[in-house]
Amino acid sequence: MQLGKFKLHIIRECSFRLDGGAMFGVVPKSLWDKVSPADERNRILLYCNLLLIETPAGRVLVETGMGPRWSEKEADRYELKSLVNYDNVLESVGLTNNDVDAVIISHLHFDHAGGATVLKDGKLVPTFPKAKYYAQKGELEFAFQANARARASYRPDDFLPLQEHGVLQLVDGDSEILPGVSVRLTGGHTSHHQVVTFESEGKKGVYFADIIPTKSHLTPPWVMGYDHYPLASCDIKSEYLAKAARENWLVVFDHEPGVPWGHVIQTAEGKFDWQPLTEESLVAV
Ligand SMILES: [Zn+2]
Repeated sequence: MQLGKFKLHIIRECSFRLDGGAMFGVVPKSLWDKVSPADERNRILLYCNLLLIETPAGRVLVETGMGPRWSEKEADRYELKSLVNYDNVLESVGLTNNDVDAVIISHLHFDHAGGATVLKDGKLVPTFPKAKYYAQKGELEFAFQANARARASYRPDDFLPLQEHGVLQLVDGDSEILPGVSVRLTGGHTSHHQVVTFESEGKKGVYFADIIPTKSHLTPPWVMGYDHYPLASCDIKSEYLAKAARENWLVVFDHEPGVPWGHVIQTAEGKFDWQPLTEESLVAV
């Protein structure tokens, strides 16, 4: 779709499943099961939706998804189904891995950084050879010192090779990556989680990453059990959603299995309603 001078595409990198209880934290199953039904292993369906932003100054890929480096046992645990060819992640939009100038990773958990590197001739190399990769400095520091609860979500093979190849750019707080495309520190999910905002010719949008993973997480207190700081997630959601509704931002959800982009409306009672774009908006033009 077009947003001002920017051309936007969703790339559905994979589908997978995670425990529904973990995805909805303290929300009772009797409530979340109605909107995100669990399978026989109590898991709910999720996608990794990457966002490609084509700007006059370059192409930005937001997130890299789960990537290809998973054992059979792990793939079964998550019912992981890859939806792209890693030699050419952008095939569906008629581009190649060489066409990406910047990759933004919201945080370094494996379902966001997993596709950042690929194994080539027995060596781990950046998936997008010509891109600089952007992550928060504090997130990388935390990934190396995460305690027992947090550690399982980080795999050094997803980000160490980026450092070794000199392509990892560490950002400290809010920063503009290319004209009109910025990262903003939110905390919440992890202490240095960031969202991506984009703006062209007065039209605005936000990629919420794991602050609002699916449309079922739109209600501010419906935050994930995975969040390190759930109360902060709740507050930052309320703040961003009010702004997004007021200024008619395009809103993108990273793990939504349905149409993952659309708009939010704030009702008279202060609640937020979701208005997705059409299925056709997902087809590359
Ligand atoms: Zn995630």
